[in-house]
Amino acid sequence: MNISHSLLHWYSQNKRPLPWRETRDPYKIWLSEVILQQTRVAQGTEYYHRFLVAFPDVQSLADADEQDVLKLWQGLGYYSRARNMHHTAKEVVEKHNGIFPQTAEGLKKLKGIGDYTAAAIASICFDESVAVLDGNVARVISRLYAINTPVDSNEGRKTITDLANNLLDTNHPGTFNQAVMELGALVCTPKSPACNACPIAFACEALKIKQIENFPVKTPKKTPTIRHLNYLVISFKKEKEKFILMRKRTGNDIWKNMYDFPCIESIVASDTDEVLESCVKSGFFGGFPFVVKHVSDEYIHQLSHRRLLARFIRIEVKGVPKLTDNITAVRKDRIAELPLPRLIDRYLATLL
Ligand code: SF4
Repeated sequence: MNISHSLLHWYSQNKRPLPWRETRDPYKIWLSEVILQQTRVAQGTEYYHRFLVAFPDVQSLADADEQDVLKLWQGLGYYSRARNMHHTAKEVVEKHNGIFPQTAEGLKKLKGIGDYTAAAIASICFDESVAVLDGNVARVISRLYAINTPVDSNEGRKTITDLANNLLDTNHPGTFNQAVMELGALVCTPKSPACNACPIAFACEALKIKQIENFPVKTPKKTPTIRHLNYLVISFKKEKEKFILMRKRTGNDIWKNMYDFPCIESIVASDTDEVLESCVKSGFFGGFPFVVKHVSDEYIHQLSHRRLLARFIRIEVKGVPKLTDNITAVRKDRIAELPLPRLIDRYLATLL
């Protein structure tokens, strides 16, 4: 038996029964692939079902309000994925009559669909012979051929893609791609791979030379940038209702179009008095008296290239503070309806 036959046979016996494996609808495959890019299967499955209930097809997603899409995505992180999906759904409806392009090249012209997603949709839904490359595939192939080039370099990616394309079973490209990914997820795992249960162990170079732990080779990581966020959780009362100031993030930064609180950001940690002094100077509280009710411990929130160190300063103002285009007053019991980054959600869970 050759490598691809062994893999396909193993997959037919061992694959997990996941909902997106029962369809070849490009909308559903696209949705599952985008969700699973940075999310574990258990959590992703829940969101996949939820999303399909709210937006069962590309037309309904295209017609949706962006805030509703972001709200549904809340908790998954990497919100640009949701914004791109929404944008792409509109493009598919407006420029392609609601029908997805049927080749990887055509799919890649859509916003947010890169090499990986395009290859996954084209091979699974339209039987195009094109190999996918994700973290699981990169690990399996780099071990199988003991590749010394870093898998996260352009050269490494090209080498692995070429090898995966050579291995691809052209009669069953979609199933083959899913088989390699499944092997990476269940057997050829990052730590302690189960080589004893591996259907392609007979051909594995890394196993042969007893150096599994040295593959895949990766480029050394840069230290993440640290950002200190001093959040001002400003509340006030108006007609017996309690309001909190929320900021819509409109700039080209993390969490675009989602809501957090007004914030003073600093390069190094600053103390509460310094933060309050600069708020008073900039007329943040509208000149009204205020009381600091609580200062939280530091929250650490890790993003892909940044580490956020956030502190929440809870302040009560005796009057209606300054509102701007992107800072609005939201009734306390309505805040949970806004699209919120997970960091803010974590803090609010302690507050509301
Ligand atoms: S033999 Fe081990 S290292 Fe090689 S592909 Fe299989 S699980 Fe991965």
